[in-house]
Amino acid sequence: MTSPSNTQLCVLCGGTLEATTITHEVKRGTDISLFQNVPAKICGECRDIWIDDEVLEQIDRLIETGVPVRKVETPVYDFSRAVAPAH
Ligand SMILES: [Zn+2]
Repeated sequence: MTSPSNTQLCVLCGGTLEATTITHEVKRGTDISLFQNVPAKICGECRDIWIDDEVLEQIDRLIETGVPVRKVETPVYDFSRAVAPAH
């Protein structure tokens, strides 16, 4: 823990960041992992979301060694195959 600051400002617009939790999606190749209740900060002005480097590192570690609470099947659509007329 180094110099905790509770008054971080959005680097995009200078708005005040509020603590929140989000569902974060991480893609590794074709695999997608979802992380629920991830601590994050949301800008009160532009609604941009920020995740601390520390949290992102923990997520990296979870992908390697963590045990998921459950798995979901993700529907995959091939847009070109579904929409384009057959030749
Ligand atoms: Zn902002």
